[in-house]
Amino acid sequence: MRVSSSWRWQLSRAMRLALCWCRLCRPQKGGRRWGFKPWVSGRSLELWSYSKLLLRSLYFNSLSNGDTLLDCAFEPVYWIVDNVTRWFGVVFVCLVVLLTTSVVLIIYLFVLPTILRTYPLPWVVWHLCCGHWLLLMVVFHYYKATTTSPGHPPKGKVHIPSVSMCKKCIAPKPPRTHHCSICNTCVLKMDHHCPWLNNCVGHFNHRYFLSFCLYMTLGCIYCSSSSKELFLEAYSAIERYYQTPPPPDAVQETTAYKSIIFLWVLTSSVAVALGGLTLWHVILISRGESSVERHINKKEITRLREKGKVFKNPYHHGTINNWKLLLGVEKRSHWFTRVLLPSSHLPNGDGIMWDCTFTRRDPMAI
Ligand SMILES: [Zn+2]
Ligand SMILES: [Zn+2]
Repeated sequence: MRVSSSWRWQLSRAMRLALCWCRLCRPQKGGRRWGFKPWVSGRSLELWSYSKLLLRSLYFNSLSNGDTLLDCAFEPVYWIVDNVTRWFGVVFVCLVVLLTTSVVLIIYLFVLPTILRTYPLPWVVWHLCCGHWLLLMVVFHYYKATTTSPGHPPKGKVHIPSVSMCKKCIAPKPPRTHHCSICNTCVLKMDHHCPWLNNCVGHFNHRYFLSFCLYMTLGCIYCSSSSKELFLEAYSAIERYYQTPPPPDAVQETTAYKSIIFLWVLTSSVAVALGGLTLWHVILISRGESSVERHINKKEITRLREKGKVFKNPYHHGTINNWKLLLGVEKRSHWFTRVLLPSSHLPNGDGIMWDCTFTRRDPMAI
């Protein structure tokens, strides 16, 4: 099967076929002229089938099917989405930084003074420690997730364990590696391209991404729950101000109330949305799958079920072990030093060789 041809070759082929078509259109010597019914029916059929052949010869491929046609039709849409995601990645990162900064500022300006003024000492200490620990974890993991490369197959090396060839990079693809059309490169153990990080989530930054999601969700839940009383107070005060004209010195107070409402609405919404996403990733990691592998495995499960077989994920080592592998926990103390505190340790393995439940000589093409 010829996968691709130069445009010159395609053009000459099209011209040759067009010439043949013209020759067929020409009435034969001694034959009847156009309009004669028996000729029209015979020649028309011949012309019709030849035209079909001509048309099909331009695009026919033995691997073409409905999916290929659909993919071709949606190619411009994919192109637009890829480019928009690529260019808007920076905007999304700025948005995350801006919103997080605004939340932190509101807490320092309006929430923390209230806590210091009204709460008993043990609660003040708890809020100071918990709030700052969550802030540190969110900032650290977000910075690391955006700046750490997800990992790519080594360039120029041909003899690496691979399951297929990347048609875009024309390079061998190790197991669990997938091509990212936004980054336009192959990514080791690719999970997905995250526009909020403006980076791909892969082997080397998967832990940072998950920790960021987890700590950001926890941080939002913490902010939302600890500012709930203030929010209710601010909400009723704002309602009161709209019903009766506010006193002249109430501008600062109104700003504080509006800021607290903004803080509560934002953190609650992010807690729900990001909480759902985090839960999905927690389920995937517990199963030993990446987001890309989830789709592939789903198809594989259906395919094997039809044959009466059961699909077994080769990268599933048991829920606890999957988590230990992702978080890089090798001994008990690591749960504290590597999970609950900021840590820059590298993940297990190089992202090319995978310790799967099947033999390494037969890596699964997923
Ligand atoms: Zn590639
Ligand atoms: Zn990417």
